[in-house]
Amino acid sequence: MALSKIIKDYGRPYAKTYKAIFKAIKEYQYIVVFRHIKPDFDAMGTQMGIYQWIKDNYPEKEVHFVGDNHVSFTPRLFPETEDLSEEWFNTHDFLAIVVDVGDASRIADPRFAKAKACIKIDHHPCKDEIAPGLSVLDKEAAAASEVAVNLLLHSKGTFISKEAARHFYVALVGDSGRFLFSSTSPHTFAIAEALIATGIEISAIYQQMYEKTIRSLQNQAYVLGHFKISPHGVAYYCLSKEVQEELGITPELGKENVNLFSNIQGINAWCSITEDPNPKDYCWRISIRSKAKDISGIANKWEGGGHAQASGAKIKDLTELDAFIGDLDALFA
Ligand code: AMP
Repeated sequence: MALSKIIKDYGRPYAKTYKAIFKAIKEYQYIVVFRHIKPDFDAMGTQMGIYQWIKDNYPEKEVHFVGDNHVSFTPRLFPETEDLSEEWFNTHDFLAIVVDVGDASRIADPRFAKAKACIKIDHHPCKDEIAPGLSVLDKEAAAASEVAVNLLLHSKGTFISKEAARHFYVALVGDSGRFLFSSTSPHTFAIAEALIATGIEISAIYQQMYEKTIRSLQNQAYVLGHFKISPHGVAYYCLSKEVQEELGITPELGKENVNLFSNIQGINAWCSITEDPNPKDYCWRISIRSKAKDISGIANKWEGGGHAQASGAKIKDLTELDAFIGDLDALFA
């Protein structure tokens, strides 16, 4: 397919890096694709899209994908991730491709550090430079998938299969909030167009992505009955371990209804605050979303990070809740 002007223009500043990346992919027989911990649509979709693209275009290579499974996306939307042994990592000279993660400590498998070379494709602020010369980063992009697909469209003599396109499309729709977030640009739509042109069925994809269960409706009812609103329009709800047990959910699902507040008059930002009883990292995990203002600075202050309108943070326990909400509330005063 001939590249549109918008796809070409986007890729131009990265031309040298793209070339170096394609060379590295051709050079390595063994490739492992990594992504961030606690994966979302973009992390899993971009990882699986790249994995599939390599399988389709370089069938002679051995390619793997690793990281923790998602409580409901696997195996519903994506295959279970692989359990690649320590021995494999110690005995293969492999290329790591790391997607959708800005800090090294958030890469879902620390064995990326054993790679002979590393490529990074991302849209988060870069906190650790792990792939000098082989890194494509666009903080303005709606999704890591948007960055990855532009790169792959520039690879001459290769193609994006329907299967790979489905993964990339899930990622693009997920992280752009179904093309609603302000990070959605003409280039985001140009990438969507290129993916849809492969013949994927988008209505079936949406059905799979956003299908709800009765359990999730009960979770929704709890959220609607218990949320609070700060003086300047920050809506939030807390899900303690006991409430999660009552609702039959795990901490990963605490944020599944956070966007109930996305189109409500007078609400500027909204968050889910979920107790994570994991003894290794006990905390209350916060998913923050915002209508317009950049909340990533507040997320950074509270042990987190992310994007202007979608970030993650943590508090150590509920004694910090008022201070956290106070910081966020002050943004809208
Ligand atoms: P979440 O609320 O977990 O869906 O995260 C929203 C966005 O913030 C995603 O792009 C995450 O990758 C990012 N994010 C979440 N937690 C962190 C963190 N601790 N550090 C950096 N980025 C984060």
